[in-house]
Amino acid sequence: MTRALRLQQVQSLVFVGGGPRTVGILERIAASAPELLGLSGVDIHIVDPFPAGGGRIWRTTQSPLLWMNSTTAEVTIFTDESVTCEGPIVPGPSLAEWVAGPGRDILDAAGLGVPAAHTGPADFASRQIQSHYLRWAYARAVSSLPRQVRVTEHRTHAVDVSEHGTQQRVRLADGTELPADVVVLAQGFLDRELTAEDARLTAAAKDHGLTYLPPGYTADIDLSDLRAGDPVLVRGFGLAFVDVMVLLGEGRGGRFTENDDGTLTYRPSGREPVLHVGSRRGVPYHAKISYTVPGRAPVPPRHFTTEAITAIGDGRRPCDFRRELWPLMAKELTAANYRHLFQVYPERTLISWEEFSPLLDAAVVGSQAFSRAVEQAVPKREDRFDLLAIDKPLAGMHFGSRDDLRDTVAEYIRADIMRRADPYHSADAAVFDALLTVYGVLAWAITAGRIAPADRLRFVEDEFHGFFSFLASGPPPRRLAEMLALHDAGLLHFAGPDLQISVRNGIFVGSSPAAAGGIVARALVDARLPRPDVRAATDPVIKGLLAGGQLAAEDITEPDGGSPSGGQLLADERCRAIRADGSIHDRLFLLGPSVSGSAGSAGFSRPGFNGPGFRQNDRVARDILRLVQSTREMESNNAG
Ligand SMILES: Cc1cc2nc3c(=O)[nH]c(=O)nc-3n(C[C@H](O)[C@H](O)[C@H](O)COP(=O)(O)OP(=O)(O)OC[C@H]3O[C@@H](n4cnc5c(N)ncnc54)[C@H](O)[C@@H]3O)c2cc1C
Repeated sequence: MTRALRLQQVQSLVFVGGGPRTVGILERIAASAPELLGLSGVDIHIVDPFPAGGGRIWRTTQSPLLWMNSTTAEVTIFTDESVTCEGPIVPGPSLAEWVAGPGRDILDAAGLGVPAAHTGPADFASRQIQSHYLRWAYARAVSSLPRQVRVTEHRTHAVDVSEHGTQQRVRLADGTELPADVVVLAQGFLDRELTAEDARLTAAAKDHGLTYLPPGYTADIDLSDLRAGDPVLVRGFGLAFVDVMVLLGEGRGGRFTENDDGTLTYRPSGREPVLHVGSRRGVPYHAKISYTVPGRAPVPPRHFTTEAITAIGDGRRPCDFRRELWPLMAKELTAANYRHLFQVYPERTLISWEEFSPLLDAAVVGSQAFSRAVEQAVPKREDRFDLLAIDKPLAGMHFGSRDDLRDTVAEYIRADIMRRADPYHSADAAVFDALLTVYGVLAWAITAGRIAPADRLRFVEDEFHGFFSFLASGPPPRRLAEMLALHDAGLLHFAGPDLQISVRNGIFVGSSPAAAGGIVARALVDARLPRPDVRAATDPVIKGLLAGGQLAAEDITEPDGGSPSGGQLLADERCRAIRADGSIHDRLFLLGPSVSGSAGSAGFSRPGFNGPGFRQNDRVARDILRLVQSTREMESNNAG
């Protein structure tokens, strides 16, 4: 075999999706290529209708008013010494460092110099700024690839992936067919068919001339049917609601002015509708913590550990989530709160951590005995960590009037803004860090088969993820201040917890068990992302692969025998697709929120925190490089 022949053997790697996940894997491929690629030539194809780097979520063509919900100091695409991976560490700037450094000229040229100048490490960048950072990181990864690797972007959809012996073929919407030795599906949040409930509301809206906007990514939704002055019911009080609120307020020409006491006043444009927002909890997600805690670092788990989970049952069967896993998770979070409080603020406790710690180790968190022990050791209620009360702050409350409900929610928001800005409550930050740790262990437990699919769906995706998002993945504090200002301006009302929607006499009616009376509106917005359910995905690639058995979705059965929606694609712990017959497809990789075991790795990694996303990207990148190299050797041997 001659060297010339070897160089001619070009392997083909196709990414479906060019968002942050693909950027991360490319960066890792570039890092390990010198070690693992040898002389192999590789053609990398990136298929995405949006420019690679930001992809759909982080595209530049969206309102400049939409922000990230992570501060710039909390976002990085590059590995650092905290990351425990096989590939080499290749440091690079966090978003904060990039905005102040290499990004400055790029942002100026894009007309974003003014907002960039006001975006420091503790600020929340606009999604447009993040888009440029991601594009820059993408370009840097591409330019660090060895010379024999060529990257081509295809600005269109992939519509089919098929197998032909050991090769795969990716068909694009423009008719191009790309041969592929390896395919990576990194498609992010998949659009899906309407649920039965969404379809019912859509049909009712059509019948009665109402407006219904089903769940979706806010930047993709047309809000123009929501008319000035009209009441609009909004179901969902999380990040998607914040986007809707921003686009319908400032996005329609309103302005916030700052008062001497730091509060905001809203100056309407007159083009805003009147929002009535409710949700399961009836309150917005907690504001992001805005103070810094010196020496903050990842916390190894102490209670919810892989060892503790391995010791449950025979070490293989799915655990009983409620009985066997949740108590360990609850203890991990509770311990994080009290460890911090006792060690950093001993003056706020009546006994020492050394005395309290064994009590906690032996306790069942949530039991009356433990609550009594806490009361005796921690005098102030505000220092106690009561999971149930934190999760459902309005649970069991009934308000005599809508005014009472309004005042209670407004006061709750005011208190949250204050607390989240006050390092006196830095135990909250310790809980935040522990939540990230718990998520990492959960992801392991899912891929290790220790959480049954139905439990994953109900307890991890619904309950835990909901709790995590509420507590740790909320909006910038400024957004809560804006809510209060819009509320004062009469443009935002609080509809209460457990918001129920019905259609009565041809109109939407929203009601909450916490307050008498209903809210009527001709428009309803479901402000949230659609719940991932790969069987209902509209994406033709996923549909085709599922139908052909090259991909498998979780088989979920409820205890009553029913089959809920919400399944994810099955992949092994190396992110390789699992086929319907249970075999592993070693040349088809799956990553992202629609893939089992993705829990906790969807968001951006924080510098210094050994993000699970980095470790996953590194493993996949190195597996791909080894595959490419082994294919080349195989072909060389066959040719020889
Ligand atoms: C609205 C929103 C805001 C968020 N904000 C934050 C934040 O502030 N901080 C944070 O840490 N995380 C945030 N996240 C989490 C988010 O999931 C990640 O930031 C990140 O976008 C995930 O990257 P990804 O590449 O896996 O998926 P995506 O970013 O969704 O990228 C997937 C790409 O695949 C493409 N694609 C899909 N199907 C096909 C096909 N058939 N053919 C071709 N291309 C296809 C899409 O066009 C898209 O560009 C946010 C998520 C959303 C939805």
